[in-house]
Amino acid sequence: MKVKLHKNKLTNEHLIVYNKPKKVYIPLISGNDTNITILVKKGEYVYKGSIIGKRKGDFRIPIHSSVSGTVLDFEERTCFNGEKVKCVVIENDFKEKIEQKLSVKRNINKYTKEEFIERLKENGIVGLGGAGFPTYVKYEAKNINTLIVNAVECEPYITADEALAKIKCEELLETIDAILEINKIKEAIIAIKKENIELKQAFDNFIGTYLKIKIKLVPNNYPMGWERNLIKEVTNKDYDKYPIEEGIVVNNISTIYAIYEALKYNKPLIERVVTFSGENLGEKRNVLVKIGTDAKEVLEQLKIKNDSIVVAGGPMMGIKVDDLILSANLNCVLALNNTINIPSICLRCGKCVEVCPAKLSPVLIMKTKYKNEKDIKKIKQLHPEKCIGCGLCSYICPANLLVRERVKDAKDLVKGDK
Ligand code: SF4
Ligand code: SF4
Repeated sequence: MKVKLHKNKLTNEHLIVYNKPKKVYIPLISGNDTNITILVKKGEYVYKGSIIGKRKGDFRIPIHSSVSGTVLDFEERTCFNGEKVKCVVIENDFKEKIEQKLSVKRNINKYTKEEFIERLKENGIVGLGGAGFPTYVKYEAKNINTLIVNAVECEPYITADEALAKIKCEELLETIDAILEINKIKEAIIAIKKENIELKQAFDNFIGTYLKIKIKLVPNNYPMGWERNLIKEVTNKDYDKYPIEEGIVVNNISTIYAIYEALKYNKPLIERVVTFSGENLGEKRNVLVKIGTDAKEVLEQLKIKNDSIVVAGGPMMGIKVDDLILSANLNCVLALNNTINIPSICLRCGKCVEVCPAKLSPVLIMKTKYKNEKDIKKIKQLHPEKCIGCGLCSYICPANLLVRERVKDAKDLVKGDK
């Protein structure tokens, strides 16, 4: 069973900018890794683009300040995953003073592969579609033959990439072409949903001279934006753990644009476009924000109603939060009304099984108790660790059961996280 979803169209798709936060709270997290070395002290003056922290371990990418101003403190605030994360609090002096290193490169395809990788690394470019994986790592592979540009928004409501792509088509195509040339990749395929005629048209207007870049229209099924589904649809290939096994790299639109700014201006990842939507917002907008902005400030500007539920992320994979700091890998914030769907008993309809893209039996996983070794053995045979957290099972469930949450509990159990 394929789930067809149509976007809740925004009342206004034009991109607006919110660049006046009094303070920013830069989260010390990269992907899901909070093992970050702090490189600033209280009272220190930082520039827009100054490095304030660096990830430890294998992927030593920096985290930058998105404003110029003074480091006030270190505070724990809620981030995209609903968890408290240590943040560097910086008071914005609104002077937008930048690090000297910013410069303009005329031809962004004139980098060696080593320089390209270094540019992405030093500018802290990570995947902006959700996982936050350091982008340079994908390009360290030697056997890349296809770049897939994911222009398929992953959940209803979200139109952040679409809004950005419509106004930055030329820059995106220029960047894709440069990536192909620098990394000696044969082709790039931009995957766009069939229903998204306007976006296809926008790319069609400029794609003429880029002979190695093609557009592929894909069905409007959820979760088409999931990497594994998208690769199967676009190339008919499967892989075991990582797309690079098949010579494929996938980047979404926002990531490609962040690469553009890194190559063109040596600009670090300090801003992103976020969709603000949901029935409890007076104005539904795509907003260019500074990383570290308190979501409350933007929600108030967009006339959030009292007693709203705020969700970090889309309606399926998002997490209800009480406060929220905008981070690099958060593409959507929803303000929903406060009605509670009361769960009833499982109807045994099997819909959760039909829709699960990981081919699991969510209902069986949910119903299996884990009181003893026998239960745990049984649950392991149901492979909850394959769950991608897409939330389709909960979304489709007519009994309003929190199926995804129960599968996640089982997943944590078999992975030893509980
Ligand atoms: S959240 Fe997990 S169990 Fe539920 S449909 Fe998605 S992959 Fe399947
Ligand atoms: S969709 Fe809900 S009601 Fe239907 S089998 Fe799954 S858990 Fe039960």
